[in-house]
Amino acid sequence: MKVLVIEDDPGIIEVVSLCFQLRWSGTNVISAESGNKGVGLVETESPDVVILDIGLPDMDGYGVLREIRRFSDVPVLMLTVRGEDTDVAKGLELGADDYITKPFSHIELIARVQAVLRRAQGLPVTDEERPFTSGKLSVDFNRNEVLLDGEPIKLTSTERKLLYYLIRNEGRILSHESLLTKVWGDTYVDARDLLRVHIQHLRQKLEDNTESPSIIVTEHGIGYKFIRPTTS
Ligand code: CA
Repeated sequence: MKVLVIEDDPGIIEVVSLCFQLRWSGTNVISAESGNKGVGLVETESPDVVILDIGLPDMDGYGVLREIRRFSDVPVLMLTVRGEDTDVAKGLELGADDYITKPFSHIELIARVQAVLRRAQGLPVTDEERPFTSGKLSVDFNRNEVLLDGEPIKLTSTERKLLYYLIRNEGRILSHESLLTKVWGDTYVDARDLLRVHIQHLRQKLEDNTESPSIIVTEHGIGYKFIRPTTS
């Protein structure tokens, strides 16, 4: 398990690290002391859970959360100060999964993290997903249904996962590493050939011309980007 702590107070980072060391062995705790660095690490490190402080030197935790939610549905626990209920409400409204109030006990922290992870894993992610429709492409994640010009397209579960992640991040360049980690898991981080093959299959199913793809485009040396198909 990988936990990212975005917090400029080294004391808190130490407390969190120690807590996992003692109570959840095998957890890798990484940290960022600024919001920008934190957002970057969510993308490059794909943590399983993010613990996010509101008071940060470069931008506040809400801004960080907004940035994270543009491309990731990683569970986020906000760190708040006791008695500031508005902080909590605002954080949850922006897509935080839960909050924990400073100062907190080890037991409390672990319990909260376990709870958000359980919720994140327990819920079929697709339940909350609105269907995606643009131009000739329409994807209903709840029903696992992909329509192209109104005709159902059969996708494998891997292709579906890949397409899902691409669509969720439409317009953003996704690195090979982040796609491989997100769709296949940490141990596949270097399997670029595997990714290329599946991208090719998806293109064969979705693109008019696989030689010059317009929906799943290649960013040379970096990764791929999903471009919303336009009505032609
Ligand atoms: Ca702080």
